[in-house]
Amino acid sequence: MNRVLPAILLALAQPAWAQRVFPGGPAFPFSDSAIVITLGTGTPVPNPERSGPATAVVVGRRVFLFDAGAGVMRRMAAAGLPIDGVTAAFITHLHSDHTLGLPDLILTSWVMGRSTPMRLFGPPGLRRMTDHFLAAWSEDTVVRVKGLERGRPGGYRVEAHEITGGVVHDSEGVRITAIRVPHGEWEYSFAYRVDAAGRSIVISGDTRPSEALTRAAADVDVLVHEVYPETRIAVENRPGGELWPRYLREVHTSDVELGTLAAVAKPRVLLLAHILFMGGSEQEVLDGIRRGGFTGPVVVARDLGRY
Ligand SMILES: [Zn+2]
Ligand SMILES: [Zn+2]
Repeated sequence: MNRVLPAILLALAQPAWAQRVFPGGPAFPFSDSAIVITLGTGTPVPNPERSGPATAVVVGRRVFLFDAGAGVMRRMAAAGLPIDGVTAAFITHLHSDHTLGLPDLILTSWVMGRSTPMRLFGPPGLRRMTDHFLAAWSEDTVVRVKGLERGRPGGYRVEAHEITGGVVHDSEGVRITAIRVPHGEWEYSFAYRVDAAGRSIVISGDTRPSEALTRAAADVDVLVHEVYPETRIAVENRPGGELWPRYLREVHTSDVELGTLAAVAKPRVLLLAHILFMGGSEQEVLDGIRRGGFTGPVVVARDLGRY
């Protein structure tokens, strides 16, 4: 069977502008292994070098996206990933920094050629959020479908699965498990574990330390985890700023706490993302992790890093 022909037909089915956005980028698919690409390693701080939280796990032609922070589609293009949709996207929680790129993911991938509903998984409230996005852009979708663009009707739609934990995807050798984690007042916040192609990957989402995450991350190949430097805990000079230290302790994970967690879980590599620096440096965070007791490999993840 000619393997080139289906690829050509697939390419012809896409709008011309969707085919090569970043000609100098790596050729997709990259390999049959499970590759982690840290598309966005930022926080709510609009740092131009760190897009909003988004991590891709790529297995052959399948792309699984975890969170959709601001800038996600630009980073997908820069990473050489398909811009006409992902296999499925998994949202850790509904904080804006993790979901600002969702309308971008849904609508841009449609404009770039997607014709089937976007498959999304996330906490209760996800469906309402995506319904509101589609309502907000309803003028756009009508004009694109009925106007001269002849957009594919229905391609902008979403298949939203509201989950409460456990195995949420298990197909053709890729298993994805949602682990409920404590994140302040959020009733549902998830970490995700991916088991595929002989590798295991855990993405923490936003969380304070927990038994559940420590167990899920035991002996994994890659642990992508949020963090802040413990030495920077201080009240802030603003109304409500006296609660900031409590917020940090109840809602996020310090470098020392993460070092202790990783010393128990023993990931092959610990990737630091979503770092709330608060004036601190990368070295401070790395030192904090060592103080916590982890002696294994630690990497400060960059946008578009591959692991
Ligand atoms: Zn966050
Ligand atoms: Zn959060």
